Amino acid sequence: MSIDFTLPADVEAIRQRVRDFMESEVRPAEEKLYADAPDGVPDRKDVVRMIVELRQKAHEWDVWLPHMPKEWGGLGLSITAMAFVSAEAARTNFGPFILNAQAPDEGNQHTLLHHATDTQKEKYLRPLLEGRVRSCFAMTEPEVAGSDPTGIRTFAVQDGDEWAINGHKWFTSGARGASFAILIAKTDPDADPPQASNTAFIVDLPSPGWEVVRDIETMAGHGNHCEVRITDLRVANENILGGRGNGHLLGQARLGPARLAHCMRWIGQIERALELLVDRAEKRELHGAPLADKQAIQWMMADSAMELYSAKLMVLHAAYKIEHGLPFRQEVSFAKHHVANTLWRVVDRAIQVHGALGYSTDTPLESMLRHARSARLVDGADEVHQALIARNVRAAYANDGNVLAATGDFDF
Ligand SMILES: Cc1cc2nc3c(=O)[nH]c(=O)nc-3n(C[C@H](O)[C@H](O)[C@H](O)COP(=O)(O)OP(=O)(O)OC[C@H]3O[C@@H](n4cnc5c(N)ncnc54)[C@H](O)[C@@H]3O)c2cc1C
Repeated sequence: MSIDFTLPADVEAIRQRVRDFMESEVRPAEEKLYADAPDGVPDRKDVVRMIVELRQKAHEWDVWLPHMPKEWGGLGLSITAMAFVSAEAARTNFGPFILNAQAPDEGNQHTLLHHATDTQKEKYLRPLLEGRVRSCFAMTEPEVAGSDPTGIRTFAVQDGDEWAINGHKWFTSGARGASFAILIAKTDPDADPPQASNTAFIVDLPSPGWEVVRDIETMAGHGNHCEVRITDLRVANENILGGRGNGHLLGQARLGPARLAHCMRWIGQIERALELLVDRAEKRELHGAPLADKQAIQWMMADSAMELYSAKLMVLHAAYKIEHGLPFRQEVSFAKHHVANTLWRVVDRAIQVHGALGYSTDTPLESMLRHARSARLVDGADEVHQALIARNVRAAYANDGNVLAATGDFDF
């Protein structure tokens, strides 16, 4: 029997160091940022100043770039070890950003590390890892369903050593201020299979032909999720990333671990919400006893604890499969769907337990709820993952006469 849930001592040491860093440096700086801001909305300049200062401290605490190999300046953590570190970082708002492990840069870093040429790595990956620049990933378009990337209508046409690209993107997170984009465009409309019709390009920014139309206002405010108009954008042939026709594959390869990285950060948020729920229930008195003594509130605690626990196990198992080179898509879909929905439910329960206070903006919960809603849409909407999961269940039953392969593939 080889299952071992003990955290290796070196991983536990880093996890604890990240927790201490978040509690003693990041959380106080964030609280001061919001307390000093008129109307509670900090100025962009103050946010940037805080991030620069905290990133310097992240180097001193030796928590910078935990997910990247040591030869690239990182801590060299495996994806399983990262599950613990990301959850700690996400207990604060800016934690992942301070470690340079935030979306979409984290996904782009992995993509460049595994698919870029040596020249591309020096030009784009190195400054990204050093925290000198930011990047974005532009795939989704307003006119066609993002859930089916074969429908992409941003076209790239070869012209000598260059490509001329025209199209329209939106929800390109981080586009404003990014120094390059990984752009998915259609180069081979007649490709068979259609998944081979898209190619990834690295686009230097700003560039003539790349126009950020607006920072789309969302239910969580302006989050630098931009609409981008692309008009006769010229990109050199050498800026193709991962080979012509591999845009879909590259997107899928990027999204597996990137989806899991999101889940890891959401687990930190779920933990925080459950702690707020319990804290309030223990301190609020009614009928001569704490609210926590009411059975209805205990059910909320119990359901939240069970859902959080299963979320952690799902993420760890998916991470284990990625780390060991095993097929991981089913497990990543389980985790993506379950963690996103658990986040939504637990934050909602915490608001319920806080009563009117929960509906106010005096606690972090209302902001957490507004941000949590996007979790069920990004990196594949709920139903996309359910469809994939069901397809695998049917295939397992058709092939094996049972569903083992589609339910974790444990060798019990
Ligand atoms: C905050 C945020 C940040 C984002 N950042 C980025 C980014 O950086 N780069 C980028 O390229 N994109 C980004 N996106 C876009 C995101 O990837 C897409 O929203 C997502 O892929 C869904 O595409 P869509 O919005 O076009 O929805 P559609 O594909 O139109 O789907 C609409 C709805 O249809 C349903 N549906 C879809 N497929 C199925 C199915 N097979 N069966 C049943 N029902 C189905 C689902 O309920 C889904 O929500 C971001 C989105 C958000 C909200």
